[in-house]
Amino acid sequence: MASKKPRPRTERRAADRAAEAATRTRDRIARLEPGGARDWPIVVDSAVVIEARAAAVPCGHCGGPLKVLDHDARASDDQRRREVRARCQRCSRDRTLWFEIVPPADN
Ligand SMILES: [Zn+2]
Repeated sequence: MASKKPRPRTERRAADRAAEAATRTRDRIARLEPGGARDWPIVVDSAVVIEARAAAVPCGHCGGPLKVLDHDARASDDQRRREVRARCQRCSRDRTLWFEIVPPADN
């Protein structure tokens, strides 16, 4: 009687596919969180706090701490919009976070 048990290589491929699917799902969820998209920014009242806020966002993949790599004010023609590139210090995945600067109304 022939064994129906999958070969190890087949099992590995299935595991790889499952891991890729999980990664894609986590990427989608990360984009749905505030700051994950240009039109869904984290709102701050001053540019000064952006890097601290970015560093406080956990990695969308492993929950590890992010390190800010680059804080680009020229990413957009909208001066209030900032693009921050960060990298997870645990799993080394890059993440882009979007911020919008909305100064507090002084009235
Ligand atoms: Zn990570």
